[in-house]
Amino acid sequence: MCGIIGYIGAKPAKQEILQSLQLLEYRGYDSAGLCCFENDKLKLIKKKGKVSTLITACENEFVTAHCGIGHTRWATHGDPSDKNAHPHLSENNNVAIVHNGIIENFESLKGNLQKNGTRFRSETDSEVIAQLLQKSKCESELKKVQELSTLLKGSYAIAILFKELSNQIFAIKKNSPLILGKANDGLYLSSDVNALIGKTSEYYIMQENDIIWIDNQDVYLFDSNLRAKDIEYQPLTLTTQDISRGTFEHYMHKEIMQVPQAIELTMTEFEPMQNPLTRIPAELIKSAEHFSIIGCGTAYNAGNTISYYARQRDIFVDCYYASEYRYEKFLSRKNEVCIFISQSGETADTIEALKKAKEHNIPTIVVTNVASSTLNKLADYILPTKAGPEIAVASTKAYSAQITALYAFIDYVYCIKNGINCRSCILKDKLKDICDKLKSYDLSIIDNIANQLKNIERVFFIGRGVDFATSQEASLKLKEISNIHSEALYAGELKHGTLALIDENTVVIVIATQKELLEKTINSVYEIKARGAKVIMLTQFEVSIDAVDILVSLPQTDQLLMAEVSIYPLQMLAYKTALYKGLDPDKPRNLAKSVTVE
Ligand code: GLU
Repeated sequence: MCGIIGYIGAKPAKQEILQSLQLLEYRGYDSAGLCCFENDKLKLIKKKGKVSTLITACENEFVTAHCGIGHTRWATHGDPSDKNAHPHLSENNNVAIVHNGIIENFESLKGNLQKNGTRFRSETDSEVIAQLLQKSKCESELKKVQELSTLLKGSYAIAILFKELSNQIFAIKKNSPLILGKANDGLYLSSDVNALIGKTSEYYIMQENDIIWIDNQDVYLFDSNLRAKDIEYQPLTLTTQDISRGTFEHYMHKEIMQVPQAIELTMTEFEPMQNPLTRIPAELIKSAEHFSIIGCGTAYNAGNTISYYARQRDIFVDCYYASEYRYEKFLSRKNEVCIFISQSGETADTIEALKKAKEHNIPTIVVTNVASSTLNKLADYILPTKAGPEIAVASTKAYSAQITALYAFIDYVYCIKNGINCRSCILKDKLKDICDKLKSYDLSIIDNIANQLKNIERVFFIGRGVDFATSQEASLKLKEISNIHSEALYAGELKHGTLALIDENTVVIVIATQKELLEKTINSVYEIKARGAKVIMLTQFEVSIDAVDILVSLPQTDQLLMAEVSIYPLQMLAYKTALYKGLDPDKPRNLAKSVTVE
């Protein structure tokens, strides 16, 4: 969450910083700002609202600047406002900082500074960083930056300008991502690699407690003890095409349309030559008695979806929310393997959950979409998804890619445990068939449903078995994008409470893809209809009952893989409903991508 950018080089700093802030905006968009060296002074402009507001405010400003830092905020401490926007200046205006993360001990640090007379201008936790740097007694700016790591508790990626050191940038990070990008004519700092695409050809991912000092075109890297380190750059292969909206009005629409491609590309990862599964020792799988899947939000839902698939194959899988797992009492299970899912690989709670598993010597596997991510670095084994950059806050193609990778994993486990030669080509063929069907799937009926949902206050998604897991994901999509209150329920649980909320102002969306559960689910449909709600049903089976108001026919495929199919129209439903409600589906209220704060 939150986007940080720093630039120093031959190009106008304002242009580079504002362009990158637009690319980082999906990480937070309640306010934005930039601070540059202009005529050896620190000049600051920051505004509540989206980056476009900042761009207007910066017209005709920063004309000579070639070095500066910028920020797009997702507020944790202090409301979205001009004064709480980053960058923050120290009291004497000699230090400017941008910060991503949470300073957990800011209250005590702020209290001490205030006792000694420091006046604060904002309500943020972050401002304390600028004030500490101003008050520091260390003999050099580099040492002042180093000292931060002894004072601050929590998570931070920080970029810093000191007025006395014109055209220099310092940076330090712990538990929040920060990347150094190198171009022919300049150097960049960025919270994620997407903002560097088309600008730099190489990048370096800062390691925990790294400190960077950029002095014009020279860049120095230090560890926490200020020992010099070599910078090992890696090539940046993504192109501007990968992160452009193309002809689509919204990233979310483009990304839903890319679902089939995300599934296909992820499956190619599991071809025999490069199959990442083969790096997981067969002995480990053979002895594994219990798999725990851990994630947040959509990633958790992907895990839950796959837990049904696994149980069909007699494989024990439990799912946990990372934000709970990390604090729960640790219960030791014999021969457990933990699988962590995160699109960005930077989800703060998931990273901490993985560290906890490692502390207990549990083998760890991650499913992520970003090869250079923190989770990939920490885990024992990696199952990559190939969804490509996902920019819309609401995850769509990454979810489909996550379950694809996990289908492959569960098949692998099944084969090893049963002494079968694992042939991922069978799964690949089935998924290819699904992708072909999704590509030609007529979604026009969804438009009509979205139009009806726009005035509805409550929506319930119900299903049994794996359809409940899909309901959870569909419900999450709808509420995050369209701000309609929505809930997912096991179909059989309605009568144990929630039926009290069902009336003619309610829509219930029923997912029924499992033949053996169809009749039971239809019973629930009648119960709902008897209370006056509108019923929309998604199924691949021929169903003709009066109780269903709208039937959405799903393409036929292997029943065990139907989760890959049924979520697709429901992702589109969330998108279209947001449009009918006049909301921006790419920037849902109060949310942001890449949840790097706890
Ligand atoms: N905690 C800081 C704030 O509220 C930074 C949040 C962020 O990462 O955007 O301003």
